[in-house]
Amino acid sequence: MLTAHLPSGYVLARLIPRAPGFFSAALIGAVLPDLDMFWFHFVDNASIHHHRYWVHIPLFWAVIAALVLPFLALFYRHLLPIGGVFFLALFMHMVLDSVSGGILWGMPFDNHLYALVEVPATQSHWVLSFMLHWTFLFELAIWAMALLLWRLEKRP
Ligand SMILES: [Zn+2]
Repeated sequence: MLTAHLPSGYVLARLIPRAPGFFSAALIGAVLPDLDMFWFHFVDNASIHHHRYWVHIPLFWAVIAALVLPFLALFYRHLLPIGGVFFLALFMHMVLDSVSGGILWGMPFDNHLYALVEVPATQSHWVLSFMLHWTFLFELAIWAMALLLWRLEKRP
């Protein structure tokens, strides 16, 4: 997914009950894995697919969630719902990346990037190939839903 992670977090935040911290947790969780793009471009020189970094591996976040959520439940119960929204947004990110980008759902048992649809390299740059592929309509739909919810929110 190229552009719709932030609006997907907004949609998530608008579809769940409102509570302090939920909005920020949804937005941060929805975009956090893609911060690996800095490492991808400035350290690894785009040498491997950034979906192979640990921040894009579902098992990694499942282990973190399995450690953090019980800790919150025991010692900071008031933060547990916020943590739940954060991890929900994180997993939504990986599900959305699975439409055409590929995610290591089988890690550590296999090294395959699972995607619902393979986007062929039809253009001179991979970004153009993704933007001109029909799966980009899915991203536009998320943007449209976010804009609609935002407009409804702003209505008097
Ligand atoms: Zn991603």
